[in-house]
Amino acid sequence: MNLKPCTESVLDRFKRYVQIDTQSEEDSRSYPSTEKQWVLLKMLAGELRSLGVEDADVDKYGYVTGAIPSNMPDDSDIPTIGFIAHVDTSPAITGKNVKPVVHPDYQGGDIVLPGDPTQIISADEYPNLEKQYIGMDIVTSDGTTLLGADDKAGVAEIMTAVETFMRNPDVKHGEIKIAFTPDEEIGQGTKYFDVKKFAADFAYTMDGGPLGEIEFETFNAFLARICIQGVGVHPGYAKGKLVNAIRILADIVTRLPKGMSPETTEEREGYLHPYDFDGQSEEAAVKVLIRDFEMDGIEQKKAILGKIVEEVRALYPKAAIDLDIEEQYLNMSYPIEREPRLLEYAREAIRRAGAEPHTKVIRGGTDGARLTYMGLLTPNLFAGGEAFHSKIEWVPVQVMEKAVETIVHLAAVWAEKR
Ligand SMILES: [Zn+2]
Repeated sequence: MNLKPCTESVLDRFKRYVQIDTQSEEDSRSYPSTEKQWVLLKMLAGELRSLGVEDADVDKYGYVTGAIPSNMPDDSDIPTIGFIAHVDTSPAITGKNVKPVVHPDYQGGDIVLPGDPTQIISADEYPNLEKQYIGMDIVTSDGTTLLGADDKAGVAEIMTAVETFMRNPDVKHGEIKIAFTPDEEIGQGTKYFDVKKFAADFAYTMDGGPLGEIEFETFNAFLARICIQGVGVHPGYAKGKLVNAIRILADIVTRLPKGMSPETTEEREGYLHPYDFDGQSEEAAVKVLIRDFEMDGIEQKKAILGKIVEEVRALYPKAAIDLDIEEQYLNMSYPIEREPRLLEYAREAIRRAGAEPHTKVIRGGTDGARLTYMGLLTPNLFAGGEAFHSKIEWVPVQVMEKAVETIVHLAAVWAEKR
């Protein structure tokens, strides 16, 4: 494709967006979970409008949406395609004062981050670097914060694609919908998303990893909360009376099977993952993620948790131990596989962008999983970043550029093949 260049490169956009702190926060009562996400959300709505997306707006929940009209004379049977990215960054690592650093013309070896030399991107741990990205420009943080490529790479790619559509009317496409969402990292990104109003037939999230990746299979995801009410007594008079909730919590956690954790499993294996705890001796709680690609595996893991809680209850009859399990999202592959065009056209677009498509299971959720079950089939495409949710998060500039091209080609493929 011979395209007129944009006024702002995907790299420059990306660098601007990552410097805006949009960290989301678990257990917040507001939506979006943090006030600061509004800054980028409102800015993106304004930028869409100034690029010519006339109806771009941000609603009361923070969802930014906009539409690019079809430029085909007969578009009645061209599906409307949405592109979606999330603006928030992980609560795990600070996203304040992000200083993006470009390491130009990567020539192999480890990358040491300048702001904290103990933060090193190892070429062994991230083999794509030497396998695919030699000669590319790698963007990182300075090592003291996360970068926020998850998912500001996706945001910058979609925005750059929007400008590309606007400046290149020769690129044929049906109606295109854009959405930027808050709070994906805390599993709330689609909570108030109005699929009907968005009115896309299909969508893609730009929130995946390495060049060429297509993801359409996620875990079935459940969250267990175990709350322990002990008995509080001054330690000086505690003998035979005090029941320590922290000890009970520790007892429960040590009973979780070690071979069934994220650090000991890969690919299609599920796990139980205690990831958040809170408490004092009188009262304590732990949250455990339950993950499996199959529902059988979920049921098995729920039973393991139930049995552990039963065993520990028997040991501490004076304590109250509650186990509560809620569904977070389900494996998105079943409905997506019923619409073969979704993946076929994505593969075609990636090839046209000069990359090799490959599929991978998602050991985590994306908003696409939930959207899929809300009726909007939404596979996830590569945005380019790796080492998400860490200080060594990185993304190659040229992969972001390929992602922009993929979006543009994908809209064209849908218009061509319908
Ligand atoms: Zn993400």
